[in-house]
Amino acid sequence: MTIEHFPPRGGIERVIAAVLRGMLKALLKPAFSARVPIPWQRRWLGVLSKLSLVPRGSVFEAATLGGVPGEWVRPALPPTRPGTLLYLHGGAYCIGAPATHRALTARLAGATGMAVFAADYRLAPEHPFPAAVDDALAAYRALREHGPVVVGGDSAGGGLALALAIALRDAGEPPPAALLLLSPWADMTMEGAPAHEPPGEAMLSVPWAKACAQLCLRDTAATHPWASPLKADLRGLPPVLIQAGTDELLHDQAVQLHDALQAAGVSVRCEITPQRWHVFQLHGGALASADDAIARLALFATTAHARDEAEQREVVILGAGMSGLCMSVQLRRAGIADFVVIEQSAGLGGTWWDNRYPGAHVDVPAPLYSFSFAPNPRWTRRFAAAPEIQAYMQDVAQRFGVMPHIRFGLCIVSAVFDEADSRWRIALDDGRTLRARHFVCSTGPLSRPRLPDIPGIETFAGRVLHSARWDASFDASGQRVGVIGTGSTASQLVPPLAGQAALLTVFQRTANWVLPRLDRRYGALDRALAQLPPYAKAVRALWHLFLEWGRRGFDEGTLARRGMLRSAEALLRHQVRDETLRAKLRPPYALGCKRIIYSNDYYCTLAQPNVALVTDGIARVTPHGIVTADGREHPLDVLVCATGFDVEHSLAHLEIRGRSGQRLGDAWRDGPQAHLGLMVAGFPNLWLMLGPNTATGHTSTLLFIEPGVRWAVQAMQELRRRGLRWIEVKHEVMRASNAALQARLGQSVWAGCRSWYRAADGRIFALFPGFTREYVQAVGAQKFSDNDSG
Ligand code: NAP
Repeated sequence: MTIEHFPPRGGIERVIAAVLRGMLKALLKPAFSARVPIPWQRRWLGVLSKLSLVPRGSVFEAATLGGVPGEWVRPALPPTRPGTLLYLHGGAYCIGAPATHRALTARLAGATGMAVFAADYRLAPEHPFPAAVDDALAAYRALREHGPVVVGGDSAGGGLALALAIALRDAGEPPPAALLLLSPWADMTMEGAPAHEPPGEAMLSVPWAKACAQLCLRDTAATHPWASPLKADLRGLPPVLIQAGTDELLHDQAVQLHDALQAAGVSVRCEITPQRWHVFQLHGGALASADDAIARLALFATTAHARDEAEQREVVILGAGMSGLCMSVQLRRAGIADFVVIEQSAGLGGTWWDNRYPGAHVDVPAPLYSFSFAPNPRWTRRFAAAPEIQAYMQDVAQRFGVMPHIRFGLCIVSAVFDEADSRWRIALDDGRTLRARHFVCSTGPLSRPRLPDIPGIETFAGRVLHSARWDASFDASGQRVGVIGTGSTASQLVPPLAGQAALLTVFQRTANWVLPRLDRRYGALDRALAQLPPYAKAVRALWHLFLEWGRRGFDEGTLARRGMLRSAEALLRHQVRDETLRAKLRPPYALGCKRIIYSNDYYCTLAQPNVALVTDGIARVTPHGIVTADGREHPLDVLVCATGFDVEHSLAHLEIRGRSGQRLGDAWRDGPQAHLGLMVAGFPNLWLMLGPNTATGHTSTLLFIEPGVRWAVQAMQELRRRGLRWIEVKHEVMRASNAALQARLGQSVWAGCRSWYRAADGRIFALFPGFTREYVQAVGAQKFSDNDSG
């Protein structure tokens, strides 16, 4: 049995208790009567509560959470613990308010170190059942978005706390960290209630309780599980601490509730204080036994809260880039607010946070590089620069209420699927653990910068910078700068660097295809028109169609391809007059095999007098420069590596284990693969964003992110609806979809050269070979029932 008795001690306490009991019996009990109108009872309780001993320095701040008014109660010292305590006052659902319970809530705030939110839930008879439960749920959900919540309540508030926990359990939502129930009223049927209250009862009477039950229930049966939790199915509730006195009407009910919870397998403890009355803890500061009881409540709450530091979430998202942001917004829109985003950087943006090199911009038109649900009429140019994109993302995050969900500066080190409870156990680098039904891995393929493995690079005496880890304070003025790499990134940073550096040497291993960038400024008129939804939609749709047409350029013999080849040749001829330089810049592979570069100033920059293009292979790096295969040393002060990303091993730093402890790294030994880039067989409830074979060489990645997110969110909702716990793509489905992809890719332009689209063994694991609509249709056509679930 976990029922313990804590007899009060000392003569002084006995005297104070006698005085207090006398006052309550004389002043309060007569007012708590079925014969006294409810408004009078409310007013009188308000007056009397002004006499209570509220700890000095406590702060009460009116607030509304989830549409429910109430007040934040903060201790004199600032809260020392994360997490909150939701307090539901008593008053048999008809009277009472946060203000009438300040003596108790302020002491709880002080003892727990947590911020307490006292909810001013709707009362009967104006708002009969289940208005109070609805309000408790709304306030809880709003608080739960920010971490574990302990729920406490006295008398009817204790019953309400139980009803809340039952409702959350039934909805499959995260439970409170613990329940603190002070003299809870958990049975509105009043069956088994004594005809008279015990002689020491200073507050309650049976007729009053019956009258309140009538006013509150109106059309609801008293046997409803929320009205009489004592009679409900109590399985699966969080840890409970019950406190009651011996001298009260609800003493027996407290014991019965303890027994029922214990029988239901709930971790429960019941503390009885002899000779104390209903909710005697309201007299903390005067009664030592009340202070002791509050200290025990606080210990229970903080211990449970700490246990819940292995915090439970519906969804944990790794990465606050475009796909993490899209997922967050769509989760919120779907009403799934219980998620956190873990982001290692100090700010939002993912690749747009990382890539701050000069000249960084997007190489698809910005109207298409915005979410369909969040058009941006403020773009200042067609090909937006990185800071503008980052600002757009910030705006979206704020507009859709995503910011409070993001935890910056934290890394996930491992994610292990626990088959016992079908949840992911996610370990953070600060030692904490999260548990989540779903794990969304939205790191993006271009998140792990790759430094070139050139002999001697570590001996270089000057500065080495990678484009994706740029130092904003770096100034190339007057320096001899070497750039390794000639991909999209290099094409963007070479022109601005050339404007500063004394000498810029570009080390090219492979020349790439360059097409003109159809860039232009967006003026006031463009921005005004973009405010009109039909115009904005039309612009977006036209770009979408144009880029889809460009996809044809990857197939031999198409009009689009002929146009692209002609355009590339014209740009080269027009911008590079020197025949020798032009010859060096002719790509040795078929157009489209590597990512096409869109630039109007890359070629011109290479023709500048302070810029040299070196095409001899790099033999080694010395402390003072680069030695090429011809034996020549190129003296350098700074080495800029625009050498791309380790896409194949983008998740290698993370231990991800699915069923039977299988490592994702092992499942991907032959290169990453997934079903539609979204799901991996053997890894239930793991959602990859922009996973294998979802990169695109011709259009905006956002067009691939949105359908994936949509499907994942729908699947999460469907799981809940069906009362299931996990969903997983079938092995044979994943195998078949990959075989089809590889068959198609094997014949494609991408099979003809080395690129980041391919694994070490040559398999093309990064690209989707088709048109955007093919991917969208393939994702949309998936049925929930095509997958395994349970
Ligand atoms: P990348 O396309 O992988 O290019 C890396 C460059 O470094 C290549 O020229 C590569 O030469 C060279 N390189 C790598 N290791 C080398 C070594 N050991 N010695 C000499 N050269 C070496 O990387 P990226 O330019 O950073 O672009 C990656 C992707 O990011 C792009 O394809 C694109 O999808 C994305 N991106 C997008 C934007 C945008 O605006 N949306 C902007 C920048 C980047 P080889 O070609 O010979 O391998």
